[in-house]
Amino acid sequence: MEKIIEELKLIVGKKGWLAVEDAPELLGDITGSGEDCLLVLRPESTEEVSRITAVCCANGIAIIPQGGNTNLCRMAIPTEKSPTIVLSLKRMNRIIDLNVANATVTVEAGCVMQVLQETAAQNGLLFAPDWGARGAATVGGAVGTNGGGLNVLRYGTTREQVLGLEVVLPDGRVWNGLRRLIKDNSGFDLKQLFIGSEGTLGIITKLAFKLHPEQAVSQSMLVALSDVSRLIELYQLGRQIAGERLTAFELMPGIGIEKALQRYPDIKRPMETRADWYVLIRMSDRSSVEEHLMALFEKGSYSEVIADGVLASSGTQERNLWELREQMIPHQYFKGYTMLKWDVSVSVDRISDFLVAAQAKVHGLCSDAICYAVSHVGDGNIHYTAYLDPEVGKTGIKDEIYDVIDELIWSFGGSVVAEHGVGALFRDQVRRQKSDVEYDLLTRVKETFDPQGVMNPGKMLFDR
Ligand SMILES: Cc1cc2nc3c(=O)[nH]c(=O)nc-3n(C[C@H](O)[C@H](O)[C@H](O)COP(=O)(O)OP(=O)(O)OC[C@H]3O[C@@H](n4cnc5c(N)ncnc54)[C@H](O)[C@@H]3O)c2cc1C
Repeated sequence: MEKIIEELKLIVGKKGWLAVEDAPELLGDITGSGEDCLLVLRPESTEEVSRITAVCCANGIAIIPQGGNTNLCRMAIPTEKSPTIVLSLKRMNRIIDLNVANATVTVEAGCVMQVLQETAAQNGLLFAPDWGARGAATVGGAVGTNGGGLNVLRYGTTREQVLGLEVVLPDGRVWNGLRRLIKDNSGFDLKQLFIGSEGTLGIITKLAFKLHPEQAVSQSMLVALSDVSRLIELYQLGRQIAGERLTAFELMPGIGIEKALQRYPDIKRPMETRADWYVLIRMSDRSSVEEHLMALFEKGSYSEVIADGVLASSGTQERNLWELREQMIPHQYFKGYTMLKWDVSVSVDRISDFLVAAQAKVHGLCSDAICYAVSHVGDGNIHYTAYLDPEVGKTGIKDEIYDVIDELIWSFGGSVVAEHGVGALFRDQVRRQKSDVEYDLLTRVKETFDPQGVMNPGKMLFDR
C-alpha cells in the first residue's frame, strides 16, 4: 500500500496532497467524524484526476469526491472500513469561460458557488442556485447533490441549470459531455445520471451552466400567518397576483424566529405580532414589485390569512429579513437534545396537512418533543426536525418516531429525502422507499459505471 500512496502523491506533487492528521475538517462533517482514510488528494487538473482514479480503481481503493463538505447527510467523508482516499476538488476552481451572448458559463468543479454568483452578477447575469452555504459549497457539490435552495420556485433545482459536464469515470476514462446545447436529442441524456449522484458514479471535473438575466429589483415581505392551515391559500394568492415574479416563499416557525432573535442581537425584530408561523415572501422583476406585494398583503389581510406583515423598504431591512431566514437552522438552538430529522418532499397542496399530522404523530409518542419545521413551500419541501430530551432519546421511542414519520411521508405519496440527498445518513430509510423494480434498475446503473464499487461506497443506496 505504501508504494501506491507514493505513486498517488507523485501524480499531484507536493501541493496536491494532505496527510490525514493535517486535514481533520475534511474527514468529518456536521454529523461527526468518518472512518480512516489513507490521505487527501487535491488535484489541479482533469488529467491528474484521471490518473488518480485509474490507480485507485486498479488497486481497489475507494474514492470520496469532496467539494466544500457542506452537505448535511454524511456524504463526502469515508464511512466504510476500506482503503480510501478523499479527493478534494477545491484547487480546481477556475471560471473557464463566461459567454454573455449565450448566457452560459463553463467552470471547474471546485469553484465556490458565491464566486460564480458574483462573477455572473458583474456581467448582468444570474447563477440561480443559492442557499446558506453559498460561501463554501462548490458547484461540483451543488450538482453532486442536485441542491435546491431559495430560487427553485422561479428557476428550478440545480439540475435545470446544467447544460453539460466533463466527468472522470472510475477507471480513469474521461467523458467529455461539456456541451452548451439547449436541444440535444442524440441519445440518453447521460449528464442527468451524474446530477444528484452523490459522487457514486464518477468525478465531475468541469461544468457548463445556463445563466439568467439578473433581476434588477427584488423586494421582500414577512407575514405572520393566522393559521398554518391557510398556508396554501396564501401561496395561491401570491401566484395569482405576481405570477413568475414570486421568487421565494419560505415558511418559518415562530419558535425559530424567537430563538434567532435571542441568539443574534444584531437581527432586528421585524414585527411585534407573535405567531406560530411566518412566511418570508420575495418578488423579483426588472421594475418595482412593490404594488404586487402590497396587493398580496391587502387581499391576504382582508381574507384573514395574514395576521400581520412588514414590507422591507430598504436594502438593510431586506437583509435583516433574510438573515432571520438563514438562522432558522435548528441544531444551533437545541444543543444537547436528541435530533431526529427529515428532508420531506410532499405535493405543495398537502404541506399544511403534513405539518399538522406529523406533530400529532410525534406528540402521540412523546408529548414534550419539540417539533420544528422550515419549508420551501413552492417546492413542497419541508425540513422537519423533532428534538427529544436526551434521556428519552436513548430509548426505543426515537426509532418508533422515525418509523411513524417515514410511514406518514409515504402515505402522503412523498419522499423522505428532498433536496439534501441521501448520503450515508438516509441510506436505509431511502432503500425502504424504493420498489424492487426501481432498486434493481438503480443498482444496475451503479454497476455499469462503477463495476468495482470504488466510488463513494456506503452512500445513497449502495453498500459499495
Ligand atoms: C448552512 C447550510 C445551508 C444549506 N442549505 C441548503 C439548501 O437550502 N438547499 C440544499 O439543497 N442544500 C443546502 N445545504 C447543503 C449543502 O450546502 C449542499 O448539499 C451543497 O450542494 C454541497 O456542496 P459541497 O461543495 O459542500 O459538496 P460536498 O458536501 O463536498 O459533497 C456533496 C456530495 O457531492 C459529491 N461531490 C462533490 N463534488 C463532486 C464532484 N466534483 N464530482 C462528483 N461528486 C461530487 C460528494 O461526494 C458528496 O456526495 C446547506 C448546507 C448548509 C451548511
